[in-house]
Amino acid sequence: MMGHQSDSQKPLFYSFNLEDHVPQSHLLRGIDRVLDLSELRQHLSQFYSHTGRPSIDPELMIRMLIVGYSFGIRSERRLCEEIHLNLAYRWFCHLGLEDPVPDHSSFSKNRHGRFRESDALRRLFETVLQRCMSENLVRGEGFAIDASVIKADANRTRGPSGEEVIDWKAPGRSTRAVREYLAALDEDGPPVTTPASISLTDPAARWTSAPGGPAFYAYCTNYLIDLKAGIIVDVEATPATRGAEIGATQTMIERVEQRFGLKPDRLVGDTAYGGAATLAWLVDEKHIKPHIPVLDKTEREDGTLGLSAFAYDGERNRYQCPMGKMLTTTGRVTKNKQILYRSSPRDCRDCPMKKKCCPNTRFRKIGRSIHEAARNVARAIAKTAAYARSRKERKKVEILFAHLKRILKLDRLRLRGPNGAQDEFLLAATAQNLRRMAKWLIPKLPKMVQAPG
Ligand code: SF4
Repeated sequence: MMGHQSDSQKPLFYSFNLEDHVPQSHLLRGIDRVLDLSELRQHLSQFYSHTGRPSIDPELMIRMLIVGYSFGIRSERRLCEEIHLNLAYRWFCHLGLEDPVPDHSSFSKNRHGRFRESDALRRLFETVLQRCMSENLVRGEGFAIDASVIKADANRTRGPSGEEVIDWKAPGRSTRAVREYLAALDEDGPPVTTPASISLTDPAARWTSAPGGPAFYAYCTNYLIDLKAGIIVDVEATPATRGAEIGATQTMIERVEQRFGLKPDRLVGDTAYGGAATLAWLVDEKHIKPHIPVLDKTEREDGTLGLSAFAYDGERNRYQCPMGKMLTTTGRVTKNKQILYRSSPRDCRDCPMKKKCCPNTRFRKIGRSIHEAARNVARAIAKTAAYARSRKERKKVEILFAHLKRILKLDRLRLRGPNGAQDEFLLAATAQNLRRMAKWLIPKLPKMVQAPG
């Protein structure tokens, strides 16, 4: 006989303790154990008036955001709904069963108001990093650097050409993202290269072409990670350009040193970071070993002799060509920070190797970077076993980006402008560190109650 659930015994009062209903092995329990917001709360108190209408408790805001970014809940509306319905989320946010959850519009308003002005998210990131350090998850010996392109919240089919003159004061156009863009233009001047297209909704996002797909507007999230446990020690949002990524490297290395006294012995990165100026900064100024492939354009692809065919004589500051002739210099430094060495047209005129060396010019010219010594340091490191290990360790930062996009679902931003990108990247990096710390310190979490990933 089919059973029938009776509804005649509904009690008038329930005794319900949320604590009893969140499994001990839930990921949020692990995160809660390692999250201490007391100092942050103290810092935030100065940004909130003691009179007037109470805002959303900043600690509640932070806990809600951590839930959102740890579990890939990208929409503010959905986050508020999920926290309303999910017992573990309520428990983590210190909300009782009957406590109201902020509605998404006041959540959004609070998030972009005083909360942003207070720099709470940078503080939160640093608080969590400090805890990772005190739990011995950061060694400080080796760091890795990398950047990942994240689509901006901007329609790729609607932007005018970057050459076009745009009236940013037109009605309806003065959004927060546009104001941030104009403020940056006032401070830094126009970009060095004109983008092919510019977004009217998020003009600071850069028009970027991805291999094999159509171009889109994007920012980059730049990660500096410690290689021991893959903890992110700094994060920076930049426009999706190579120059900005390089700039972020220096910003992050300096900031981590100033804030936490951490300076690695070696920095691991890909060829994008192997430019002469970056290598020189690492080797000469910071005394950090670059485990980075040298960005080398000295070999030629047309079959003519590359730089390796010429021997450098450091004592006499000249090159010797394969025919034993000298290439000398006046010592003048070019715009590209190179010193030019030239052979004598007389030597080359009847040389049997001319066709292989300088078929279209009267003499051979070689450019030597003023940072060649630093490039040579990187070249020497690239031959060591330690470098081969570093190449494998670099995968840790790639895994973090894959996790960011696939599990935390941050493959497209929801907030606009450089500050919106910075907020999202800081929160995602904080969530990744919290998840990693919780899993590292509480390793026996059964898969069932963990968030994906
Ligand atoms: S062409 Fe000139 S520089 Fe080149 S190998 Fe001959 S002599 Fe040397």
